[in-house]
Amino acid sequence: MASALDYSETMTEVVVFNKERHIKYFLRCLKTFLPDLYTSNDSNRILLAYFTVAGLDLLGELHNRTTLEERQGYIEWIYHCQVPSGGFRGFTGTDFGPERRTPANEVWDPANVPSTFFALLILLTLGDDLSRVKRTECLQWLSRMQRENGSFGEVLGSDEKIEGGGDLRFCCFGAGTRYILRGTGEEDLVGDKDIDVDKLVAFIEACQTYDGGIGEAPFCESHSGHTYCAIGALTFLDRLSKNHKPIELLTPGAGPFESLVRWLVARQTSELGDDEDEGGDERGDSHDADGVENLSVTVGELSLDAKADQLPVIRPATKDSLRWAGFNGRCNKYADTCYSFWNTASLHMMDRLGLVDVTRNRRYLLEKTQHIVGGFGKGVGEPPDLLHSYFGLVSLAFQEEPGLECVDPALCSSYRTVQHLHSLPWWQKKA
Ligand SMILES: [Zn+2]
Repeated sequence: MASALDYSETMTEVVVFNKERHIKYFLRCLKTFLPDLYTSNDSNRILLAYFTVAGLDLLGELHNRTTLEERQGYIEWIYHCQVPSGGFRGFTGTDFGPERRTPANEVWDPANVPSTFFALLILLTLGDDLSRVKRTECLQWLSRMQRENGSFGEVLGSDEKIEGGGDLRFCCFGAGTRYILRGTGEEDLVGDKDIDVDKLVAFIEACQTYDGGIGEAPFCESHSGHTYCAIGALTFLDRLSKNHKPIELLTPGAGPFESLVRWLVARQTSELGDDEDEGGDERGDSHDADGVENLSVTVGELSLDAKADQLPVIRPATKDSLRWAGFNGRCNKYADTCYSFWNTASLHMMDRLGLVDVTRNRRYLLEKTQHIVGGFGKGVGEPPDLLHSYFGLVSLAFQEEPGLECVDPALCSSYRTVQHLHSLPWWQKKA
């Protein structure tokens, strides 16, 4: 009894969510230059913009800390990324301008599937009504992005060739874009070519592996990020129509559903990767590059029993080590902030979030990866970056952290944004 009491006392220690620092972090990213590490992300600038704008929205400060003119400027920049033939480019660097764009050169300035999804989400988050979005053109372009096997590419190349993509990320962004732009009204889209929903569902189902998780494509290793994309895509399809045959991955009691839940819950781990130096001395020169090389040669000559003896010692969990538990994305990996999102968001869409140990996830995020300057790092002791900062916040929002807006797990945006989407004309069901 005494130890149980000690334990509960430990769990009630004050863990602080540093809201004001997170606001400052996202404002710095919005209003000053990003660190040079982001240079290689230039062609993906829409994604960085999404994390920044959605982060401030989640913190409830987008409208308080930016002016109307600033928000209008962001909206204009997004529309500047719209391609005349439908869809959005990821940044303005490929834009020739309307006078110089011709059928012969437009292949060099294509819309791409992920950027289109994120552009629409940013516009919605900023309160735009999407009235300037080339909605029909975009949906037509999207149907041409789907491959024969049901998956989606990234861009259309010359002669309408579908290029890039092919994994579940593009399936999720394709289904998400269709969800946003198609809505439930539908009457104004009669006669337009839709994507092949059955083929998309079949492709996603084929990506589930023997262990219950879902890989990026059929016969690939289970991965939480791709699992999220699979469940996200299916959720978008399911929300728009209940007339198709039941999707097993979304049906409690069905084998695929239950085995996926088990796999997702098993991703929660107290292996944080923060104690690499402990025990390093046992290996002597293990940090020395030559030593590592020699070690592998030596191990290669050992018997199986001797090799087993060389494996690192896995220390049993202790009361202390179990205080923090984040999530990994694959078996035998350390916890990583973004996986606190990918796994719990998937479970949220499957209505199984209650199976997660929220207290230990919160402690992991707030005590191990929340950064002193605001934002979250990928792992223990890492500097903050936009992706991990946003997903750290969303994971906490799922757990109803005070000071954060509620988030829709499929659109990965605040409920306020989703409500705004559902108020648009093509979302108004005919009476
Ligand atoms: Zn990560």
